[in-house]
Amino acid sequence: MVKKVKHSSRIELKQSAYKNNLNFIKKKIGDGVIFSSVVKANAYGHGIETFVPMAEKCGVRHFSVASSFEAEEVLSVSREDSHIMIMGIIYEEDIPWAIDQNIEFFVYNYDRLPIALEAAKKVGKKAKIHIEVETGANRTGMQKEEFPKALKFLKKNKDHLTFHGLCTHFGGAESFSNQFKLDIQHKRYKEFLQVCKKENIEPEIRHIACSAAALAMKDTVYDMVRVGVAQYGFWPSPDIYYHHLQEVNKLSDAALKRIFTWKTDIMDIRNVKEGEFIGYGTAYQATHKMKIAVMPLGYSNGYPRALSNRGQVLINGKKAPIVGLINMNLFMVDITHIPDVNVGDEVVLIGRQKNNVINVSSFTNTTQLLNNEMLSRLPAAIPRTVVK
Ligand SMILES: *Cc1c(COP(=O)(O)O)cnc(C)c1O
Repeated sequence: MVKKVKHSSRIELKQSAYKNNLNFIKKKIGDGVIFSSVVKANAYGHGIETFVPMAEKCGVRHFSVASSFEAEEVLSVSREDSHIMIMGIIYEEDIPWAIDQNIEFFVYNYDRLPIALEAAKKVGKKAKIHIEVETGANRTGMQKEEFPKALKFLKKNKDHLTFHGLCTHFGGAESFSNQFKLDIQHKRYKEFLQVCKKENIEPEIRHIACSAAALAMKDTVYDMVRVGVAQYGFWPSPDIYYHHLQEVNKLSDAALKRIFTWKTDIMDIRNVKEGEFIGYGTAYQATHKMKIAVMPLGYSNGYPRALSNRGQVLINGKKAPIVGLINMNLFMVDITHIPDVNVGDEVVLIGRQKNNVINVSSFTNTTQLLNNEMLSRLPAAIPRTVVK
């Protein structure tokens, strides 16, 4: 159903900022490397439906998701010539569907190979598989012991199974304190490649780098990178940002740009007398005569309740502090110090307004949420649009 009424908040994606991030990352990884845009978790909250076509306009043709239901969503909005890869869960009953739709998927243990083979035979199309190998994250991935057997299986059934990729995922590439672990993982990955060579069957593409590795560990960039957080304009961690600053010999560099702005508008304005309580309970008592603006959204719309009495929004380019508790569908902010505010005025919840900005990080510092966690919790129902 297409909704016609206006939603209580909206998200804008800035295409020029995305293009900038893409150029920056591509420069880091070099020519001839496939850029796979990781759009799991509703494109890290940016909204698959809006984000994927925008990325395609900027030239992206490969998308990675965590599950078959996310793949289905990408499929419904993407171009015919775009590739989709499932890195995580795909139930056995959905494998024929994936093969039929030319969707690539990870095979993360030996037992999935015969299942993929049966599905490929049933559909009458070749399955494009990526063998994910266990290198030290102990999450998903084929064990070393099973690997030679898997390669023999692939050789024997090459009419039905394409050995498209060999991959692994780092457990914690954003932190240099994990370097010893990352080195071990990379070394083990190379051993898997050696086994391929020995068995005389090699993957079409090799890929292990996520954002942090793609930006800061050049030797982990093989034929493809799987980039999530960085394409949305976030440095994976301070470590990775400082690594970049050293590389370019600068004290700061706004090389990555946030593409995301979250907005709403003022629902109502009221005066509150000194001594009155604002909202539920007694969480906020007016210490003086105040002017309050009412926001038409709350924690059920993705605005964290932990920001009660702590967060801020932007109105007329000025910070307006939250007063009282975040309710399910409402919260209030203090605008006593901001002149010329009217009902219906635009409010920025995350992003820039005039010379002021509210970052996801300022948000997450108080809530203890990870950037990714905060973004991925933004309800899918919030409408997303692209702006230049
Ligand atoms: C999420 C994910 C990525 C992308 O990670 P970022 O740090 O956001 O770039 C890459 N590979 C796999 C397997 C993932 O699950």
